[in-house]
Amino acid sequence: MRKGCVLSVMSFNIYFIHFLNEVIMESILNQKLTSEQAIALEDKYGAHNYHPLPVVLSRGEGVYVWDVEGKRYYDFLSAYSAVNQGHCHPKIVKALVEQASTLALTSRAFYNDVLGVYEQYITNYFGFDKVLPMNSGAEAVETALKLTRKWGYEKKGIPENEVKIIVCENNFHGRTTTIISFSNDPVARKNFGPYTSGFIKIPYNNIEALEVALADKNVAGFLVEPIQGEAGVYVPDEGYLAEAAELCKAAGVLFVADEVQTGIARTGKLLAVDHENVKPDVLILGKAISGGAYPVSAVLADNAIMEVIKPGEHGSTYGGNPIAAKVAIAALEVVKDEKLAENAAKLGELFRAEMSQLIQETNLVKLVRGKGLLNAIIINDTEESSTAWDICIKLRDNGLLAKPTHGNIIRFAPPLVMNKEQLMECVAIIRKTILEFKK
Ligand code: PLP
Repeated sequence: MRKGCVLSVMSFNIYFIHFLNEVIMESILNQKLTSEQAIALEDKYGAHNYHPLPVVLSRGEGVYVWDVEGKRYYDFLSAYSAVNQGHCHPKIVKALVEQASTLALTSRAFYNDVLGVYEQYITNYFGFDKVLPMNSGAEAVETALKLTRKWGYEKKGIPENEVKIIVCENNFHGRTTTIISFSNDPVARKNFGPYTSGFIKIPYNNIEALEVALADKNVAGFLVEPIQGEAGVYVPDEGYLAEAAELCKAAGVLFVADEVQTGIARTGKLLAVDHENVKPDVLILGKAISGGAYPVSAVLADNAIMEVIKPGEHGSTYGGNPIAAKVAIAALEVVKDEKLAENAAKLGELFRAEMSQLIQETNLVKLVRGKGLLNAIIINDTEESSTAWDICIKLRDNGLLAKPTHGNIIRFAPPLVMNKEQLMECVAIIRKTILEFKK
C-alpha cells in the first residue's frame, strides 16, 4: 500500500515536471525577443563558432533587412553572396513552397520527377555534360577534390595514394577537415590536426609558381578561387586565370574553379572565369545557386571526368532533393530574367569609382578593389586593429550592414537586385560613416 502510494507520488512528480517543461518550452517558442534577448540566447545555448555583428534580423525583402525592433538596413553582405537575387525573391519562394508541399525528399534511393529536369537545366545553363548535386559549398569542394583524385588515378594513371592537388595560399574553400588541411589560416587549423596530405600550396596570382608545381607528374588538379573572397577580395592580375587554365591543359591537369562565392552573376558575369573566357574542367557552385532560400551546391564536369564516380562512391541524403532542384531552377531563372550579371557589372563600376574618391578624401581608406558587386575597401590600419569592425558598427547604426574580413578589410557585396538610386544612397551612408569616423 505504502509502495503504491510512493509510486503514484513519483509519477505525479514526473508528470508535473513534464508539464512544466512543456509550458516553459511553449513560452520560449512563442516569445517575442528583443535584440538583447536573442543575442543572449545564442550566446548561452549556441556554440561560439561565429562572431556576428550585434544586429538581430527578423525580416528581409530585396536589398533590405529589418531587425527585431523594426529598423531597416541595406544588406551589404548578402549572406556572403548567397542572396544575390535579393531576400525572399517571390519567384524563388513560390518554387520552394510549392515543392515543399508536394514532395520534399525521397533520398537518392529512388528517382523523382524533378531532379532530372534540374540536372538538364543546370548543365545546359553552364555548358557541362553532368552535375553532381550536394548541399553546402564545402561539400561541393570535397566532391570536386574526390572527383579530381579519382580522375587522377583512373584516367591519368597516377600510382595509388600518390595524387596531389595544387591549391593557393590564403585560400578559403570551407571548413571540413580536408579543406582546412590546406588552409593557411591558423584559426581554421589550430588543434584540428592531423591533416589530410596530398596538397601543394603555391602563392595566388603567381604563374611561375604554378608552372613549377605542374612539373610534378602526380598532380591531378589545380583548385583555385577566381577571386579570393574571404581572403579580402583579392582580384588576380588580368590574364592569370586564362594562363593558368592553359598551363593546366598542357600538363594534363584539371583546372578546378571554386565559384561558390564568385559565381552566379556576383562579379558582373555569370561566372568570374567568364571574364577571361575560361571553361574550367570542374566547376564548383553553391550559395546563390538557390538565392539563399535553401542549401544547394553543385559540381559540374563533362562526362570524361564525371563518369569516374560510380554508385555508392559519393553522395548525400539531401543532395539533389526535389525542393533544392526546384529552388535552384527558379534562382537561376531570376539571374537571367532580371539580368543580374549586367546590373552587377554596371553598379560595380559606379561603386568602385565612388569609393575610390574616399582615398583622396580621407587617409583612412587605402585601397578599393573588386569586380562587379564583390568589392572591398582596405582600411589604413593593421590587421590586428579593430578599425574595420568599429566602422561596421557605425555603418550598422547608419543603416547599412557589412562585415570585416580580417582586421582591416571591409567587404561590400549587396544583393544584385539593387538599383542605382539605392546604390547611391548606400554610397552616401558609407561616405558619411567613414568621414565621421575620421574625426
Ligand atoms: N568556397 C568558397 C570560395 C567560399 O567562399 C565558401 C564560403 O564562404 C565555401 C567554399 C564554403 O561554402 P559553405 O560555407 O556553404 O560550406
